[in-house]
Amino acid sequence: MILRGRVLHFLKQPNPVNLEGSYEYIEEGAVVINEGRILEIGTYMDTRVKYPDLEVTDYSKNLIFPGFIDLHNHYPQVQVIASYGTQLLEWLQKYTFPEEAKFGDQSYAKLQAKKFIKLLLSNGTTTSVSFCSVHKDSVNSLFEEASKHNMCMIAGKVMMDRNAPDNLLDDPLSSYQDTKELISKWHENGRNYYAISPRFAITSSPEQLLQAGRLVAEHPTCYMQTHLGENKEEIRYAMNLYPNSKNYLDIYREAGLVGSKSLMGHSIHLSPDEISIFKDLEAIAVHCPTSNMFLGSGFFPLRNLINSGVKVGVATDVGGGTSYSMISTLDAAYKIQQFIDFSVHPMYAFYWATLGNAKALGLEKEIGSFRKGSFADLVILDTRGDLCSDIRMKTCTSLTEELFVLQTLGGNHSVKAVYVAGERSK
Ligand SMILES: [Zn+2]
Repeated sequence: MILRGRVLHFLKQPNPVNLEGSYEYIEEGAVVINEGRILEIGTYMDTRVKYPDLEVTDYSKNLIFPGFIDLHNHYPQVQVIASYGTQLLEWLQKYTFPEEAKFGDQSYAKLQAKKFIKLLLSNGTTTSVSFCSVHKDSVNSLFEEASKHNMCMIAGKVMMDRNAPDNLLDDPLSSYQDTKELISKWHENGRNYYAISPRFAITSSPEQLLQAGRLVAEHPTCYMQTHLGENKEEIRYAMNLYPNSKNYLDIYREAGLVGSKSLMGHSIHLSPDEISIFKDLEAIAVHCPTSNMFLGSGFFPLRNLINSGVKVGVATDVGGGTSYSMISTLDAAYKIQQFIDFSVHPMYAFYWATLGNAKALGLEKEIGSFRKGSFADLVILDTRGDLCSDIRMKTCTSLTEELFVLQTLGGNHSVKAVYVAGERSK
């Protein structure tokens, strides 16, 4: 199969001063897909001559771009998104926990998993790193649904044994056993990967974090995801619960939870010592900008982290986040950094949501770009899909400017089509 259009993908992290060599753009381009993977990209004329028998789908005016990668979200929060008037800890108690309790009913979990995957794919997100609820079957429901679409799903059962309603609590040993069972069922099964998922230090006892650390040690190819330094009140609470730890990140480090496959959601309020731990242990700080604005959490120190050599990812954090669209997420990231005098370059932004996140996951050979052999996960973007964009695009003079306008004015409505492993899903 050949997709014809304006092909764009990234080769390495763009340096705003000299973008050369960081991306590949073919104006009259084509992507050749074979058995769900990228066979090659090139000019439309060349590929047509080389593969005269292949069926062509024409997206000439549109950008063909790698599918977006969302590094942090919560599938049990499909009904929680856009809940009014609270910050993190109250928001969890008031809106999130009551909703997550419903996922004890597997038929409900299945229904919500279906909606969630539909929302991701319709926004051009083809890889997701997701928290499930505390219930084992919530995990089964999500992986089953993701497998139907052959998308890349990284997810896990939330481990939480305190400071939440009783119907959402497990215990250290049962959370260890349930997670172990789920890992053997889902990790590296098709395109699925397991993420060991202690929710955060506040909802896990020291014993449970140690069990999570034991899982990490026993399953070094699994990911680990949790939350860190999102909200000042949360940090105070966590440090009261772990008075012997030097800082918030140290709570996780002491339990053996921090390494190169550890995704630390939010990571806003960090001390220099925590930044050193990030760098030394190669953990990933995951920025969730729409959520940070919505819950009034704070400003992610992006420039400081990049300059300190820390791996950074970007994510929606639905339902604290307010959009499934990674385009809207990049827009929010830009606006947050504007508050702290850093203008994120649009080339960096689009790199970040694709190859950057793929590299953070160590999956850059599989996803995030159009390198030969990677999965044909891609999104077709109409950068003039609405009146406002169409008018503004008339005076765009460069690809960089076009991407910035897309980031600022675009969103879900810019996504014209989506392919997962070569199959059209939108
Ligand atoms: Zn989260």
